[in-house]
Amino acid sequence: MDFATDELTRQIGETTRNFASQYIKPHVMQWDESQEFPVQVFKEMGKLGLMGVLVPEDYGGAGLGYLEYITIIQEIARVCGSIGLSLAAHNSLCTGHILLFGNESQKAACLPRLATAEWIGAWGLTEPGTGSDAANMKTTAVKEGNDWILNGTKCWITHGKSGDIAVVIARTGEPRAKNNATAFIVERDTPGFGSGKKENKLGMRASETAEMIFDNCRIPDSNRLGNVGEGFKQSLKVLDGGRISIAALALGIAKGAYDAALQYAKEREQFGKPIAQFQGISFKLADMATEIMAAELLVQQAAHKKSVGIPVTKEAAMAKYYASEVAVKVANDAVQIFGGYGYTKDFPVEKFYRDSKLCTIGEGTSEIQKIVIAREILAD
Ligand SMILES: Cc1cc2nc3c(=O)[nH]c(=O)nc-3n(C[C@H](O)[C@H](O)[C@H](O)COP(=O)(O)OP(=O)(O)OC[C@H]3O[C@@H](n4cnc5c(N)ncnc54)[C@H](O)[C@@H]3O)c2cc1C
Repeated sequence: MDFATDELTRQIGETTRNFASQYIKPHVMQWDESQEFPVQVFKEMGKLGLMGVLVPEDYGGAGLGYLEYITIIQEIARVCGSIGLSLAAHNSLCTGHILLFGNESQKAACLPRLATAEWIGAWGLTEPGTGSDAANMKTTAVKEGNDWILNGTKCWITHGKSGDIAVVIARTGEPRAKNNATAFIVERDTPGFGSGKKENKLGMRASETAEMIFDNCRIPDSNRLGNVGEGFKQSLKVLDGGRISIAALALGIAKGAYDAALQYAKEREQFGKPIAQFQGISFKLADMATEIMAAELLVQQAAHKKSVGIPVTKEAAMAKYYASEVAVKVANDAVQIFGGYGYTKDFPVEKFYRDSKLCTIGEGTSEIQKIVIAREILAD
């Protein structure tokens, strides 16, 4: 398989890199320390088309494919994992769900606003008691006339407070029954839709993570996405795409940490020579470069298959699992190469190290990815 980067992807990479260097890089540590979610940066990304990467031009999006999308997420994550995570969640989850399962009037109403960042999107599946076992959700939607009444709490939601619109998956059938969940679009100003605790996190601190609370929140049936009972199945399809974006996020973090470590190893001298000349350090760099390349090939393979419409459940899980574990290892090695300086906030590697860990947890932990991969290979 040839994944050689074409001219369009190269240009998109360069534009995104320039954007990240101008609008994100100077503020990374300030946002991280204050846990500020910088809404204005997302508005700027909206002007560039980065908030509707996969949305067709007819709906105001950039109309690009998955290979361009993973390039964008990587370039942003190379500078700041938090902004990369929020960008991935907005594009793949909320926008992605409406793109995949919305009807014509839902798409016409929502996608142009999401693609331009007039709206920031959130996507709520996880609950306090149900993370990996997401199908066991407690949040309910009960039909009353032509409306649905939502009650329950979703947690760990990216843009749970600042999101202007959320796609919410709620139980519409009996607990543990088959096909018992349905997806809905809920706008922020809907009475009964509030937000709760904002999480104080180890990493990804500029990406807002918060509870969404539904207290007798009444929404019209016209906000239902697809058929009643299809919400969980839809979510798994949405996550197939989302996991490719988290794999790209992990790859960007790994590359950012590696770039910094490589440069430092060439400059930092001990015992009269650059530390890169010690085999103990150069072998670390060799492992990092090899693992990044292997992860990149998995991510590109998944993105390529997705862009040509081939089912990618296995490939997306493999890419997400491997790239996220590589990100953690590479970021850890980068801190080691920096020595004591790597343990301070004066150098970028400690943040890559903190941010990388999320990639092995969000959108399905590494353990859950292995369950998905095992199920797929055993069914072959
Ligand atoms: C920063 C951040 C942003 C997030 N954004 C969103 C969002 O926008 N929308 C959303 O819906 N969710 C979001 N999440 C939630 C995320 O998807 C969940 O945290 C994740 O799926 C894991 O669920 P959990 O935290 O409840 O862990 P648990 O499911 O409680 O898992 C705990 C541990 O048990 C392991 N485990 C669980 N079941 C099994 C099993 N069967 N076999 C082996 N091991 C198992 C897990 O791998 C893990 O190590 C976000 C999370 C974070 C941290």
